[in-house]
Amino acid sequence: MSNIELIDRLAADGVLAEEDLEVLLATYTAADRDYAASLAYRIARGRFGTNLHAWGVIDITNNCSKDCFYCGLCRSNEALERYRLSTEEVLACCSEGHRLGIRTFVLQAAEDPDFGDDVADDLIWRVRKGFPDSAIALSFGERSRAAYQRYFDAGADRYLLRHETADADHYAQLHPRRSTLANRIRCLEDLKSIGFETGSGMLVGTPFQTPLRLARDLLFLADFDPALVTVGPFLPASTTKFAEAPAGSVEKTLFVLSLVRIILPNADLPVMTSIATAHPRGREMAVMAGANIVMPNLTPPAERAKYALYDGRVTLGADAADGLEILRRRMDAIGYTLASDRGEHRRRSG
Ligand code: SAM
Repeated sequence: MSNIELIDRLAADGVLAEEDLEVLLATYTAADRDYAASLAYRIARGRFGTNLHAWGVIDITNNCSKDCFYCGLCRSNEALERYRLSTEEVLACCSEGHRLGIRTFVLQAAEDPDFGDDVADDLIWRVRKGFPDSAIALSFGERSRAAYQRYFDAGADRYLLRHETADADHYAQLHPRRSTLANRIRCLEDLKSIGFETGSGMLVGTPFQTPLRLARDLLFLADFDPALVTVGPFLPASTTKFAEAPAGSVEKTLFVLSLVRIILPNADLPVMTSIATAHPRGREMAVMAGANIVMPNLTPPAERAKYALYDGRVTLGADAADGLEILRRRMDAIGYTLASDRGEHRRRSG
């Protein structure tokens, strides 16, 4: 069967055998990639039209107790200047975002012991109370089921936690021994069963990734059926164990993004900052390959630069207003309008 036939089969069945996906990922050509992108683009246009939802990201803290080998925020990176925004500062970012028309706030935090469950819970309550017309998405990493339940009860709607890689051996090559894929999956299952619109996803091009391992990521997503998927290229951080590793390919990331859109037609697929960092037109290319959400950054510029997951993380504009305006113009140029409602909750239980 040709790769085009495999892509058609994926579109028809929503899944392929592991070996077929592996072959597709190992042998695809530029023409196959274009074919998948055009299919994914048509699916996304059919579902979401020309509206792109803008979710405003607030990077709350870069203090991390984890030591993921690929991440510039890892605990052992002593060169990084650490920061934590106060609750008042986060609320001020939300106010500014709201004034600019943002109706989803993505509260993102490294795994900071001083940003514990009580502080997080209080923050969510206050965002919920202050911005009742807005959705709250969290990305606070691995926490207990009880903590996730508290966040949900406080009014959070969505939770983003990439599985990173669905292959346990690969997971062990990317993380210290105390971090396990089993716990990551436990978190994802807890989040979904609590009722969060749950997001997962993976990095493309991490060290030791193979077509088979990437095929397993896609099969994991097909099975878990997340409401939201984030896919981005691995980009090296000069302060980490993988400083010398090559960056993940932009083209492969876009191909994988298109395959995810084909597998999960209803999922929200945000354009990640990593793809925008990896290519000056990364945002536009991701939208043309099936993404339907953009994520302007609302973090104060001084702290934004310190949320240094990888080298050269780009942000648009000098401040939130400036960044949003640039994004609006760039998306307008490819025929999209930034929508300012909170986005439909397509699947409350997913
Ligand atoms: N610790 C939390 C977690 O595990 O979800 C939240 C913060 S973590 C820094 C957020 C995401 O950054 C991770 O899911 C990871 O995929 C991404 N990331 C970390 N290092 C990266 C790198 N070098 N290149 C691209 N993305 C990276």
